[in-house]
Amino acid sequence: MPVLLNGSCRCGGVSFEAASHTPAPFMLCYCSICRKQQGGGGYAINLGALSATLKVKGKNRIGIYRAEIQDDERPRCERSTGERNFCKSCGSALWLYDPTWPDLVHPFASAIDSELPAPKQRVHIMLKYKASWVEPNVRKGDRTFDLYPEESIADWHKRTRMWVA
Ligand SMILES: [Zn+2]
Repeated sequence: MPVLLNGSCRCGGVSFEAASHTPAPFMLCYCSICRKQQGGGGYAINLGALSATLKVKGKNRIGIYRAEIQDDERPRCERSTGERNFCKSCGSALWLYDPTWPDLVHPFASAIDSELPAPKQRVHIMLKYKASWVEPNVRKGDRTFDLYPEESIADWHKRTRMWVA
């Protein structure tokens, strides 16, 4: 059985749950969107869960942010297809949903109240776009990427035996 992730915003106006095969908070994203919107320490951590199982209380408090992106990879400004859901009352970032991958929803680990399994190794991504003051805490066994890794969140969990069947 996949694990049930319970999450909420800071003010309690929004709470949600979603089932996940991939609950390990292993992937740290240092991109400017994650950092500005959600990652006070210089990065954000997205989990993977099954969008069909997402249940939300307080839907009327949810705002959706779609970032505009213009960088080396996208020289012409593009609007991200990713929908970053947040609480309009307190500002907490809750999850990302991208209709390009409709089966998944990506709760931010910071919004999760359930216990999460501690990953033995981590992946640091989008380091090309990290802020200069951020010193990634890269430990033995961690992998680092300037942009995105080839390996999916699901494949990482299977390789490291952290997949919850
Ligand atoms: Zn709130």
